[in-house]
Amino acid sequence: MKFGGTSVADPDAINRLISIVKHRIDSQKPGDEAPVVVVSALAKVTDALVQVARDAEDGQGARAEATLRALVDRHVSVAAAVTAASREATIAGVKSEFEELIGLVHALAVLREVSPRSLDAVLATGELVSSRIVAAAFADHRIPSAWVDARAVLVTDAEYNGAAPDMHGTGERTRERVGVHSAAGRVAVLGGFIGSTANGVTTTLGRGGSDYSAAIFGASLDVDEIQIWTDVDGMLTADPRIVPQPQLVPQLTFAEASELAYFGAKVLHPSTILPAVDKNIPVRILNSRRPDNSGTLITHDGAAADGALTALACKRDVTVVDITSTRMLMAHGFLRRLFEVFERFKTPVDVVTTSEVSVSVTVDDTRRLEAIVDNLRNFAEVNLEREMAIICAVGENLRSDPTLFGRAVTALERVPLRLVSQAASRRNITFVLRDSDVPHAMMRLHEAFF
Ligand code: ADP
Ligand code: ASP
Ligand code: MG
Repeated sequence: MKFGGTSVADPDAINRLISIVKHRIDSQKPGDEAPVVVVSALAKVTDALVQVARDAEDGQGARAEATLRALVDRHVSVAAAVTAASREATIAGVKSEFEELIGLVHALAVLREVSPRSLDAVLATGELVSSRIVAAAFADHRIPSAWVDARAVLVTDAEYNGAAPDMHGTGERTRERVGVHSAAGRVAVLGGFIGSTANGVTTTLGRGGSDYSAAIFGASLDVDEIQIWTDVDGMLTADPRIVPQPQLVPQLTFAEASELAYFGAKVLHPSTILPAVDKNIPVRILNSRRPDNSGTLITHDGAAADGALTALACKRDVTVVDITSTRMLMAHGFLRRLFEVFERFKTPVDVVTTSEVSVSVTVDDTRRLEAIVDNLRNFAEVNLEREMAIICAVGENLRSDPTLFGRAVTALERVPLRLVSQAASRRNITFVLRDSDVPHAMMRLHEAFF
């Protein structure tokens, strides 16, 4: 059971979490193992810690410390409100975790340098303290529980800020250090998002990574269901911040959910589905404010949606890279050479289209784009177009109903489309367009299909 930032934001949210878990335990059959709970940092805490790291890098040590002191106060007041017998010990634990961080940030501010590795050490504090508070609150509500340091369980590589799990090592440790508690009827509570390298250096899985942590632990324990408790009723037909009043998608397939998450449906971290697919474990998205709703169930087979499409997603602010070479394009080896450049700079491309003399790709992560362009210019002309976006229409029905593609294009009649693609899976149609056209285009598509 994974609870996101808004589901642990304040004492009321944590009390709702406790009653959800309690209800779950009360409805178990004898012999069932206790659920495992994975929590994010309290709402907005990771954003605040990112700012703390930036301030440290700018030498603004005093400002960073002031932010951290405010975070200490917030966590102490939440901890005080949700605990009883363990109140003092919990508050002391929260304070000492933050004191350690204040020392680290002070050093970073003196050096004015925050490496990706240091950033992970800073960000991890959010999940470390939230999970301690929730574990203590369970105990004080007479729910047998155990806090488990996720860094001692989730083994990752050393790609800081977006580490990949070592599923084998993590699986063993999860069974040893988490499974024992479930088997004994104790609710193990872990912070999501965080892990450590084989050498014990703290890492994170990337922003939004708590969903992924939950799926990794769930797959390691071969659980019956992975539950993602959040602030919306489930997967919706579009991002509610862009399309007002989207509809709930009651069921969808792993493949559809992966596409939607990858192309921007923030309710699921893009990697969440992978561990679930491997073990064929259903994933359910639920609203922690309305726990009686059935949410969205994601399974291997899903269910054929009545409508034509399953949902829409969009990825904002991407860059289109046009690579043109009249001389080279049709020569064999050109595409390999081109993609090798992206590979060398560890930059994934999302949409790819080709014409006779040019290849266009979209890039989301532009940190290394300058170097990529320099390298590409050794053998091709390169043109960049920024402030673009990807809209992705997803649905298994796209495979069987060839008219859907036309309907989608028609719905977008006056919106200038830069690239259009439909992949071999034929589970999605992808449009690349100006970012400023996204709200209008999403509304048009949503009206046409939902
Ligand atoms: P949590 O903190 O629980 O992990 P997130 O903020 O990461 O929550 O994800 C939930 C948010 O995802 C929703 O509040 C919603 O604004 C956004 N979202 C974007 N696209 C979708 C979608 N297709 N369906 C549901 N939510 C979406
Ligand atoms: N707290 C982390 C973040 O805000 C991880 C998560 O919430 O999933 O990115
Ligand atoms: Mg999230």
